[in-house]
Amino acid sequence: MEKKNIDWGNLGFGYVQTDYRYVSDFKNGSWDEGKLTEDANVVINECAGVLQYAQTVFEGMKAYTTEDGRIVTFRPDLNAERMENSAKRLEMPVFPKDRFIQAVVDTVKANAAYVPPFGSGATLYIRPFEFGTNPVIGVKPADEYQFRVFTTPVGPYFKGGVKPLTIRVTDFDRAAPNGTGHIKAGLNYAMSMHAIVDAHNQGYDENMYLDAATRTKVEETGGANFLFVTKDGKVVTPKSDSILPSITRRSLIYVAQHYLGLEAEEREIPFEEVKDFAECGLCGTAAVISPVGKIVDHGKEICFPTGMTEMGPVTKKLYETLTGIQMGRIEAPEGWLQVIE
Ligand SMILES: *Cc1c(COP(=O)(O)O)cnc(C)c1O
Repeated sequence: MEKKNIDWGNLGFGYVQTDYRYVSDFKNGSWDEGKLTEDANVVINECAGVLQYAQTVFEGMKAYTTEDGRIVTFRPDLNAERMENSAKRLEMPVFPKDRFIQAVVDTVKANAAYVPPFGSGATLYIRPFEFGTNPVIGVKPADEYQFRVFTTPVGPYFKGGVKPLTIRVTDFDRAAPNGTGHIKAGLNYAMSMHAIVDAHNQGYDENMYLDAATRTKVEETGGANFLFVTKDGKVVTPKSDSILPSITRRSLIYVAQHYLGLEAEEREIPFEEVKDFAECGLCGTAAVISPVGKIVDHGKEICFPTGMTEMGPVTKKLYETLTGIQMGRIEAPEGWLQVIE
């Protein structure tokens, strides 16, 4: 199969339309058989549930070419399960897990010409999502929904080298206790836009959100989970019901314990403790881990000993091991790689 003529190494993180996407509609209580289409546009009524009351959930994952030339995705079963939880919380019908995985496989296969070659650092980003399509004006869940999967090639995350991030502790809240912080819903992002634009205007890369109830514990950023390394080499990550359960973070904890022989735990992390950590990183599908060099809390700086030019040693080992597993250089745990072709 001939690849598209794309300058893979210079792609950014933007939408590039690919040839095919998967669409299935939910009507009269059931999903139709679904199909691939070349039509990238969605035509819905002006009063559609998604437009009025933000009934939409999504997932983010990647397909890439391994060292031995296979096209794979990483743990799509977990994306399917998370989307199931997201849909249920917003009273949306669940797109079945086996069909979710098949839809992802079919969409990537149809767009194989857009899967970047091994070594380019680029990947094919996959965006499954579901939204309410029929007119809803009284506040209630929609009756009709669409599930779609589209793909878009994205460039290497650390283009021009690793640059540790500077993060501020924000006064905005991301997620309420018993709210929707643990699901991947567009609504969580809508309300984070102001906080991130404001952070960027002030010269920060990201916001660190604290728990909304007590503002004493670390939660996450707008789109990535935190991972810290203690001075004695233990990997710790915040535990909270209002954090989005990152698949990357869960995989890194497993890698720390089972590949690197490190102690790793998920527990509440008081913000007070952050100044004592040796390393800090953000984890998510986009970058796997981006190192954090500095956290600024209302003018008070916490500078990690790893500095502003490099990944910390443990962060780096975690990064290299997980990306090695993803790229097929290191043997993956059973079921982590879904081979597409
Ligand atoms: C998607 C997302 C993450 C990262 O999850 P991954 O499964 O690792 O990509 C973290 N936080 C939020 C708020 C997210 O939406």
